[in-house]
Amino acid sequence: MGTIDDLPPLRAVIAAHGLAARKSLGQNFLLDLNLTAKIARQAGDLGHADVLEIGPGPGGLTRGLLAEGARKVVAVEKDARCIAALEEITQAYPGRLEIVSADALAFDPRPYLTPPVRIVSNLPYNVGTELLTRWLDPGTWPPFWTSLTLMFQREVAQRIVAAPGSKAYGRLAILSQWRSEARIVLDVPPEAFTPAPKVRSAVVHLTARPEPLFEADAPTLFRITAAAFNQRRKMLRAALRGLSPDIEDVLLSAGIAPTRRAEELSIEEFCALARALAAA
Ligand code: SAM
Repeated sequence: MGTIDDLPPLRAVIAAHGLAARKSLGQNFLLDLNLTAKIARQAGDLGHADVLEIGPGPGGLTRGLLAEGARKVVAVEKDARCIAALEEITQAYPGRLEIVSADALAFDPRPYLTPPVRIVSNLPYNVGTELLTRWLDPGTWPPFWTSLTLMFQREVAQRIVAAPGSKAYGRLAILSQWRSEARIVLDVPPEAFTPAPKVRSAVVHLTARPEPLFEADAPTLFRITAAAFNQRRKMLRAALRGLSPDIEDVLLSAGIAPTRRAEELSIEEFCALARALAAA
């Protein structure tokens, strides 16, 4: 285990505070501080950024972020058992860690943060995609964050970075890549976690693009991708029938053959379709 600070090893913190992992909270802890510092480094320049961390747990990644020089970390944790353990980190890094006891799904972090903001998290698997979806579709663009560095089950990470034509390509890839640049930066084996999950994990790094890749109205684009991938094996003229009575004409005016399927369409083509539907 690494010694990146003078605080006790994470196993001792977990024992001292009785932090037996709870499945209902998606708790799979990282105990190797060398690994958490490595994850923190994937987030880019932290010295000039505020970091939002969801689910700090016993604080392994929090300590990695602070040791790597984060200007300030705002850590939002739902499990009240973890708060006392996290308070000990505050003392080692005076003025740089703010702990918030809250459910991340019902909490607006923006008043706590000064731009630029980087979000870094080993996400609880049960709310990970919901949080990502919210961060990617905040209503207005650019969003309050400049980058997201997030641990997911590898299968979810692959869906985020997937290219058209691949099995993993779907709504999540379009949502992610339309307005941000997404890549997998680290593979993490099950043994890195306590308890070890059944599947492999991966860290994805997303950088917000100042402008979307192609022009489109966000709600229209997301409505189309939801309908299209809901029935991904069907031809688009059937899958999108509910969106317009003239869907074949709309598809043709966007330059897309109505017999094609959702998984073959590029993000550029989905955007062209969104523009055509808005104009219909
Ligand atoms: N960051 C720690 C680490 O890497 O070892 C813990 C990661 S663990 C996968 C997920 C953490 O998210 C747990 O500490 C869990 O209690 C917390 N959590 C689960 N649901 C949450 C929610 N809705 N809001 C905030 N935290 C949550």
